[in-house]
Amino acid sequence: MADEDNLQLADRVKGLSESPTIAVMDKARKLKAAGQPVVDLSGGDPDFVTAPHVTEAAISALKDGFTHYTPSRGFPELLKAIAYKTEHENGAAYDAKKEILVTPGAKTALYTAAQAIINPGDEAILFDPCWVSYAPCIELAGGKCVYVTMDNHTTLAVLKANLQKAVSGRTRIVILNTPNNPSGFVWSKEQLEVVADFVQSHNLYVLSDEIYEKLIFEDQPHVSIASLPGMTRNTLVLNGLSKSHAMTGWRMGWLLGPEKVISEMLKIHSHSSTCAASFVQKGAIAALEGSQEYTNYMVGRYKTRRDNLAAGLNKIPGIHCEVPAGAFYAFPEISHTGLSDMDFASRLLEEELVAVTPGSAFGPGGVGHIRLSFANSDEMLAEAVIRIEKFVSIL
Ligand code: PMP
Ligand code: GLU
Repeated sequence: MADEDNLQLADRVKGLSESPTIAVMDKARKLKAAGQPVVDLSGGDPDFVTAPHVTEAAISALKDGFTHYTPSRGFPELLKAIAYKTEHENGAAYDAKKEILVTPGAKTALYTAAQAIINPGDEAILFDPCWVSYAPCIELAGGKCVYVTMDNHTTLAVLKANLQKAVSGRTRIVILNTPNNPSGFVWSKEQLEVVADFVQSHNLYVLSDEIYEKLIFEDQPHVSIASLPGMTRNTLVLNGLSKSHAMTGWRMGWLLGPEKVISEMLKIHSHSSTCAASFVQKGAIAALEGSQEYTNYMVGRYKTRRDNLAAGLNKIPGIHCEVPAGAFYAFPEISHTGLSDMDFASRLLEEELVAVTPGSAFGPGGVGHIRLSFANSDEMLAEAVIRIEKFVSIL
C-alpha cells in the first residue's frame, strides 16, 4: 500500500490558497443548499440572466452541429467581432488574425499571459487594492508582486514616484484594472498617461483588465490605456462577457496584445484548453454584434442599487462607504466597528447569514474593508443592510 504522506506534490501549490472570492461563494452556496436564508453578496455574479438573443444563438449553434473543436485561437468571426469592438469602442487596433486569443473566461487568459511572460524571480507591479487572482497567477509562474497604492487620493506626482520606487531590473509587467474590483475606482486618462510613460520608458508590458468597462455610473468615460499613443505595442487588453453581458457561467474571455505575446500564449492554450466552447463562441458573437440595450438596462439598475446600498451602509455607525464610480461592488471601511475584516466577514456570515468578502483578500489596501456585490436584487440588498445594522449594533 502506498504511504500517502510520501507521495509528493509540487512546491508551487504549497503556499497557494483557494480564491477567497470563490471560497466565500461556495460556502454561501452550501448554506443555501442546506436551507439557510443566506443573503449572498460575496461573488461578482450578476443576478440577471443572459439576454435571450445570446442564449438563442448558442442553442441554435448546438442544434446546427457546432459541437466540435474550434480553431484554438477562436472562430474567425468572433475574433473579428472582438477586434471591431475594441477598435470602435476602445480606440485600440489589434489584428484579428494575429493579436487576439479567445479563452474560457478572462481568468484563463490572465493565467496564460502570466505563464507566457513571467520567469521565476520576475516581478509584477499591482495596484492596491486589486482583484484576488492577479497575485496567484503571477506567483504560479514563479513571479513576485510589488504593490503600489492607487485610490481617489493618489495624485499624479505620487503615482509617478510610487511607480519609480516599485520598479526593479526584474519588473516585467504592470497590471491595472479599470473600473477596479474591489474599490470601483475608475482610472482617468491623465493617470493612465503616467502608467503609459512609465511602461514605455522601462520597456514593460501592461495588462489592462477592462472587464468592468461598461459598468461606470458617473459622467466619466472608460479609457483603455491601449488607446494612448504607441501603447498597443506594450498593452495586453483583458476583457470578456461575464460582467457586461451577465455571462459568468458561459466562461468567455479574451486577450488582445502584440503577436509576440499572443503567439506564445496560443501554444500554451493549445495544450491546456484547446479552445473556448464552440457554442459559447457563437453566443459571444451574438452578444458583441447584437443590441446592447440589455447591458444599458443592467447598468441603470446597478446604479440605483449602488446608491441605495451606499446610503444604507453609511447610516450604520462605524461603517463608511465611499460611493464607487464603477464595477458592482461596495467596499466600505468597517475598522471602526472594532473588528478585523476577516472577523467581520466570518461572524456576519455565521450570525446573520450575510456573505461578503473580507477586504484583506484584495491586498494590503483592502485591510479593514469588506466587499459587497450589488449584482443582487434590491430586496436582497435591503435585507443585507438590515442584518448588517443589527450585527453591528450588538458588537
Ligand atoms: N478580472 C476581474 C477584475 C474580475 O473581477 C473577474 C471576475 N471573475 C475577472 C477578471 C475574470 O472574469 P471571467 O473569468 O469570469 O471572465
Ligand atoms: N470576479 C468575481 C469576484 O471578484 C467572481 C469570482 C472570481 O472570479 O474571483 O467576486
